[in-house]
Amino acid sequence: MLFTNVTPSPFDLSFRLLGVPVRITPVFWVVALVLGGSASPDMAVVWVAAVLLSVLVHEFGHALLQRGFGGEPSIVLYAFGGYASAVGVRDGWWRSVLISLAGPAAGFALFGLTWAARQSFGLPDSPQARVFVGSLLWVNLVWSLVNLAPIYPLDGGRVARELCVRFLPATTGVVASLLLSITVALALAVWSWNATGSLWNVALFAALAFENYQTLQQYNLSRGA
Ligand SMILES: [Zn+2]
Repeated sequence: MLFTNVTPSPFDLSFRLLGVPVRITPVFWVVALVLGGSASPDMAVVWVAAVLLSVLVHEFGHALLQRGFGGEPSIVLYAFGGYASAVGVRDGWWRSVLISLAGPAAGFALFGLTWAARQSFGLPDSPQARVFVGSLLWVNLVWSLVNLAPIYPLDGGRVARELCVRFLPATTGVVASLLLSITVALALAVWSWNATGSLWNVALFAALAFENYQTLQQYNLSRGA
């Protein structure tokens, strides 16, 4: 979702899961570790395992629907998550919308399953297992919600782009989706600073706002506006 065309390196971990090629870049591990900020090594491993499972489930939500619509998907895990791309997916704006929504939907499903398991069986005894369950709940709720924000290229931004281009004149649609992305990203940067005081969140949303601003400028230049 966030990045596309990350070039392969010898340090990538590559394997197939459910018939889908998966590539994990070194940056994924580094960013996951830094975001966790764990004091002890074993809790850091537990946190990274929870992030890995959550991001894989999210991307498989996209990938399995891409396959359902005739595509051949592959998954790359990168800094803030990853992306699932596919060749041969049948055309149709509503298919693109459903594929974008399938990632957050898979995340909410994992959140629901984990929450139901905790309600039914209670919290596990071991501290590591408790942190794993807590991390799964937190990552799947927050990551799925963030991805639904209508900021391109997050999943919600892709949905907004498809809908704007579908229901507005083509040029107006692209500009409207970019302006929406910039506005929401700036609003979330301010809101997350007030709510969490985390520079990570501010940097993420500010970078997204800037990226969309640059795209808007290039788009206006290219059509002589
Ligand atoms: Zn996604």
